[in-house]
Amino acid sequence: MIKALLGILVSILAVTFLRAVMGLLVKGAKEALQPDETSDSGSAPPESGTRLRKCKTCGTFAPETRMLRHSTRETDVFYCSKDCEKQATA
Ligand SMILES: [Zn+2]
Repeated sequence: MIKALLGILVSILAVTFLRAVMGLLVKGAKEALQPDETSDSGSAPPESGTRLRKCKTCGTFAPETRMLRHSTRETDVFYCSKDCEKQATA
């Protein structure tokens, strides 16, 4: 009887341990594939899909997703803020 209980206990511990290890492995793999976005990306190259764009008015570089986009026939023009947008279109 005690042997059976020990067996159950050991298997529960093993499953818990394996889950923890697997969780760490998955977390590590994710971090290796996707670098932490909250970290300072000053020296890191821009991630694919998030291109840096230059504000046409003030020349500030910022991720495309955070810029105001003005599409023309030839090209896309980007502004870092409403103020720059106003200055350019005024
Ligand atoms: Zn600007």
